[in-house]
Amino acid sequence: QMETNLQKKSKDNLRCPVVCVLGHVDTGKTKILDKIRRTNVQDGEAGGITQQIGASFFPIDAITEKTRPVMELHKVEYNVPGLLIIDTPGHESFTNLRTRGSSLCDLAVLVVDIMHGLEPQTIESIGLLKKRRAPFVIALNKIDRLYGWEPHPELPVQQALEMQADSVKAEFQQRYDFAVRQLQEQGLNACVFYENQDVRTFLNVVPTSAISGDGMMDLLFLLSTLPAKMLIDKIMYHENLECTVLEVKAIEGLGTTMDVIVVNGKLKEKQKIVVCGLEGPIVTQIRSLLTPQPMKEMRVKTPYIHHQEIKGAIGVKICANGIERALAGSNLYVVGEDDDEEELKDEVMKDLGGILKKVKKNEDGVYVQASTLGSLEALLEFLERPGEDRDGNPNPPIPVSGIGIGPVSKYDVMRCGVMLEREREWEAYACILAFDVPVLPDAERSAKEIGIPIYTAEIIYHLFDAFTKRVADIKAKKKEEAKKKALYPVVFKIVDERCVFNKKDPYILGIDVVEGTLKLGLPVVIPNVKWTGDAKTQTAATELLEFGQVMSIEKDKKAIDSATRASGNVAIRIEQRKNMKEYTFGRHWTHESLFVSRLNRESIDLLKEHFRDEVPKEDWKLVVKLKKLLNIP
Ligand code: GDP
Repeated sequence: QMETNLQKKSKDNLRCPVVCVLGHVDTGKTKILDKIRRTNVQDGEAGGITQQIGASFFPIDAITEKTRPVMELHKVEYNVPGLLIIDTPGHESFTNLRTRGSSLCDLAVLVVDIMHGLEPQTIESIGLLKKRRAPFVIALNKIDRLYGWEPHPELPVQQALEMQADSVKAEFQQRYDFAVRQLQEQGLNACVFYENQDVRTFLNVVPTSAISGDGMMDLLFLLSTLPAKMLIDKIMYHENLECTVLEVKAIEGLGTTMDVIVVNGKLKEKQKIVVCGLEGPIVTQIRSLLTPQPMKEMRVKTPYIHHQEIKGAIGVKICANGIERALAGSNLYVVGEDDDEEELKDEVMKDLGGILKKVKKNEDGVYVQASTLGSLEALLEFLERPGEDRDGNPNPPIPVSGIGIGPVSKYDVMRCGVMLEREREWEAYACILAFDVPVLPDAERSAKEIGIPIYTAEIIYHLFDAFTKRVADIKAKKKEEAKKKALYPVVFKIVDERCVFNKKDPYILGIDVVEGTLKLGLPVVIPNVKWTGDAKTQTAATELLEFGQVMSIEKDKKAIDSATRASGNVAIRIEQRKNMKEYTFGRHWTHESLFVSRLNRESIDLLKEHFRDEVPKEDWKLVVKLKKLLNIP
């Protein structure tokens, strides 16, 4: 008796669970939302769904009506007053509905395409759901694409499956098993919901088709029964306001408005509220609280209903002054009579504070831009630990030096441009990684002008891929440039008198390499001291004849691009740089002159950096001797 009373009491006091839909692109998230909305609308207006701001409300009567066959099959009654399903599917609305690392969304639907299994964004979503400790169910969607599927949307999906031909059942089983195995690899146990005995250990899987409607009632059924089983404490209504900003946007005739989801508690007109802004907390007053006019009332002039007071869970539009710079994803607090406004201001800025801590101002790092606080946080968390490479080694973190929220503007490009001006190891960081935000035209223009690439993506790891490719490209380019500057050490001499084939520029000589490697393009000098071939006894040259650059090397009339002592006699052509005076044979140089690479500090460093493993040991020894000869510290 006691227990039933308690149950009854709690039942009266339950609020609507808030439901988000996540999953990889094209799995059918939007279609599923459309389908459940439409079927209910078709069932008649009374007791049908109501469109709220950013969310649709499904009263329990409508759900009961729609899902009776599956309720009877499982002999279950509903406790919740309805469902509040967030209208925009995907990461963004989910990441926005959070407070201090945990989720305000009570239950999520992770949509998986049965024909594809788990995809990269599915895995990204799983990570996010785990991190926010949000319970979820899996909609294994597009079952109508199983070959030969016969739709039975009027039946519970379990029965619809039983009606299928054996081949369809077999294909279903095979694809289902595959998805379950993939989930296991992600550390998740999963089980089709009508066989699930233990909802705390096993994720529920619902086979669905947003096209044929199969499994739709089962999905609604599951969303309406699970919260009472798993989340009864979480969905008990209480008066402590839990409210987050989903979107900030300008509406004609209303000015800037904030779409918010009130999960718990109440909001009233004229209340003083605090939200987070990029430049600091925003304190303002609620001018009006709006929800959309029901469909049939559309002829009425105003598209909105005004409320003096609303109660969670609900999605509403707030009109207020000074909210242009408010951040989507911010918590919203009401400043009551007994509240300390300063404390609430600090509180509301905490999320942004956490984000700013990850940003290393005045250091090397990329500039990141996202649509909301929540998605920015998700992006930063990813960049801190950007997964593993193919061999399972962790990828290095990508440092961040600046952030922006909202569309990429010229201002963002200018701030990122500062990276270009700094003299650092390399320029890879001077770029913008923009997650799920548009780039304004003038931003695009000035980015092109100053040479800042903007990478945009709707999937976080695509940004990582773009950046990784950028790093690789720049490295390759640098190496290519370095190749020209990294000079190999060589000492060579003319074979004999007869081997001075052309005594004027371009000089053509037959030579023997004494030590080292002669490479095409090498600048050579003639030192005014003897070559001893030993670092200890070698003296430094006091004069160097800048002889020119080796422009071709030939062995037996065939062009080659490098020569060593083992090559024997080779013919080379040396060209002088333009505007240099010519060196006269017999006066400035003779067939007995010694030629060496014109090394310098920079060329040696580049050689070490890029060709450490390619240069033979003997040649490194030669570098030491040449340093002595050329007087390089
Ligand atoms: P979203 O990117 O996850 O929102 O995916 P959409 O809802 O836009 O669907 C992507 C594509 O898959 C569209 O062409 C849909 O018509 C199709 N689609 C969605 N659900 C189903 C389904 O259950 N069965 C089939 N055959 N196609 C579907």
